[in-house]
Amino acid sequence: MYQKTEKIWMDGRFVSWGDANVHVLTHTLHYGVGIFEGIRYYDCGSKGTAVFRLRDHMRRFDESARIVEMKLPYRVSDLVEACVKTVRENKLKEGYLRPLAFITGAPGMGIWAYDNPISVAIITWGWGAYLGAEGVTRGIRMKTSSYTRHHRNIGMTKAKVCGQYFNSVLAKREAKMSGYDEALLLDPEGYVAEATGENLFMVRDGVVRTPPLGSILSGLTRNTVMTLLREWGTPVVEEQLTRDDLYVADEVFLTGTAAEVTPVREVDTRIVGAGKPGPMTQKIQNAYGDLIRGKNDKHKEWLTFV
Ligand code: PMP
Repeated sequence: MYQKTEKIWMDGRFVSWGDANVHVLTHTLHYGVGIFEGIRYYDCGSKGTAVFRLRDHMRRFDESARIVEMKLPYRVSDLVEACVKTVRENKLKEGYLRPLAFITGAPGMGIWAYDNPISVAIITWGWGAYLGAEGVTRGIRMKTSSYTRHHRNIGMTKAKVCGQYFNSVLAKREAKMSGYDEALLLDPEGYVAEATGENLFMVRDGVVRTPPLGSILSGLTRNTVMTLLREWGTPVVEEQLTRDDLYVADEVFLTGTAAEVTPVREVDTRIVGAGKPGPMTQKIQNAYGDLIRGKNDKHKEWLTFV
């Protein structure tokens, strides 16, 4: 469950949570062309509350809009400011931000509907560990999905497009109904792509490996983790991985804004490594925890204090 807040930013003004409604003819509801982001902000103690990588998220939001030809009525800098205001207005010390842009329902309701105005909403809510508190400490169980990740000419893999997430929803439901925590999605060639809302990494013999961009979202947490690894001098490579690479990995972990760094302890009934979070995963979890809570001065540019 998420924790409701008071106010939602809608098209430039705050409305109360219960009044933030849309018409049933909202084009995006029918055809799925909308875009969104997922951002977290954290309590940094005496330094205050900071949003993690806000500008990068809103840049990706803008790029998602350009990819699906939605003309956002706001500049990135305006949206950054609106996110900060939304956090301030709701007074949560830690939480999740969900900017969403959608196509309204007039004048057109056909596929074309090119001239319908775009609405933007920014919502915040309180959210705990996305894959469960136990998942963060013990690791989660993952199952290869019967659903395939979008081919890059079917989905727009660089964009967070609302409709594209039907693939994630089906895969997630299948995995959960089969008693697993998360789905492993393969790309159309059968290589490892990502999870339903997270990127994937594996560790073997001290080398960290992750699938290249192509069928996956260019995750900001993925980028954060790769930056840390490079700074430590830990070898990290982007290369195609097969599901059986994961079966013999020393460690597997997922990265995402919502899931942060979550260890994987089992893939398709194969126990990963020692069946508990490995040393590299733990090191990355700790370093990520320090970064987001303002304890690593090296990357102050990633924190926007509200
Ligand atoms: N892949 C998918 C499909 C996602 O939805 C997300 C979450 N945005 C990620 C990866 C991770 O991206 P990020 O680290 O930027 O949250």
